[in-house]
Amino acid sequence: MLSDRAFDAAHLWHPYAGMTTPGPVHEVAEAEGVWLTLRDGTRMIDAMSSWWCAAHGHRHPALVAAMTAQLQRLPHVMFGGLTHGPAIDLGRKLLALLPEGLNRIFYADSGSVAVEVALKMALQAQVARGHPGRTRFASVRGGYHGDTWKAMSLCDPETGMHGHFGSALAPQIFVPAPPVRFGDAWPEDPERNGLAAVADLFGRQHDQIAAFILEPVVQGAGGMRFYHPAYLRGLRDLCDQHGILLILDEIATGFGRTGRMFAMEHAAVVPDILCLGKALTGGMMSFAATIATTAVAQAISTGSPGVLMHGPTFMANPLACAAAAASLDLLAMGEWPAQVAAIETQLSAALAPARALPGVADVRILGAIGVIEMRQPLDAPHVHAHARHSGVFLRPFGRLLYTMPPYITTPDELSLITQTMLEIAGWHQ
Ligand SMILES: *Cc1c(COP(=O)(O)O)cnc(C)c1O
Repeated sequence: MLSDRAFDAAHLWHPYAGMTTPGPVHEVAEAEGVWLTLRDGTRMIDAMSSWWCAAHGHRHPALVAAMTAQLQRLPHVMFGGLTHGPAIDLGRKLLALLPEGLNRIFYADSGSVAVEVALKMALQAQVARGHPGRTRFASVRGGYHGDTWKAMSLCDPETGMHGHFGSALAPQIFVPAPPVRFGDAWPEDPERNGLAAVADLFGRQHDQIAAFILEPVVQGAGGMRFYHPAYLRGLRDLCDQHGILLILDEIATGFGRTGRMFAMEHAAVVPDILCLGKALTGGMMSFAATIATTAVAQAISTGSPGVLMHGPTFMANPLACAAAAASLDLLAMGEWPAQVAAIETQLSAALAPARALPGVADVRILGAIGVIEMRQPLDAPHVHAHARHSGVFLRPFGRLLYTMPPYITTPDELSLITQTMLEIAGWHQ
């Protein structure tokens, strides 16, 4: 019989991994707060919040209690022709957080699906408004929107590995990534602030474009870049001028991560369609939501076929809704803004010395996100091995070494994360 480790290597796919030379993995036995405990008893801080999800840390008692109570009553029921308290309760709580016009909620089962639903909504709304020719989507370079086909087609063409899928992938339209960084002065000249490229594109091809999709302010898995919020305001105006819908993908940035409840609040921009996911359930389980404005929902519902053509089996799963509602209750207790601000301050001070390291190209911090961009790609297995040794779990990609720790991370725990990051950044000359 294979050992557990050998079985894993031989039979279980891991993200973005092959089967012949699978990357190293640590076996996690349990998790609590910021800590992961490995099977051999080693403890590591989850400096990634398990890919942005575990904002309150792992196994938060309030989330466990909410899910346990729901599990005893109604773990799952289909959403077609039925509804339930957790879905309604969560809907009320989401609307209380969202800007006024955004109020038609579609519960999806993962972030990628939420993006697919957003794209379908946009397309159906355009058809209903008499624009059946608007079948394409536009985005900025450097983005990430998920791994399903249509979402993947809108990821950065290079880091999104479009090349591997050839002509099977729908060709979308890209403008350069927003060029002005968060915190820099905003040049009004559209040639310099990136909006000229959008205006040009819309001027030429607006009758083919259903929607423009992007992540507000923080581009996550496509390159961990932070751009100027004024770009979103300009983009909103251009979309309105040309009848193009604006989709904001807040799947990574939502629920306080950037220092605001939603990153779009940095720009005071309201999209036509919003995608939420990741930290929505506080990291307890896969769940997401796509939220449309009344106008979009009405266009879809009055046009032909008059219904939104999507309906996942596990839509509005009660366990997920209960976890998400409990997570929003935790956020409503109001500790997160001070926690995120303290993390931001400490990350800014503690990662600053990395700027002087010869292998480092850039250091950037926003909210509870800290990024060291190296000049050369990092040796991921080397970083992985070091993690166990230093007690910090990090998962770099390419030239990016970054952390987005749980909001409950203490100053000492955060110091351990930043020290480990500095050590790793110092390896490269
Ligand atoms: C993670 C992510 C997605 C995809 O979510 P999944 O739950 O992995 O399908 C989409 N958009 C953004 C911005 C993300 O960070």
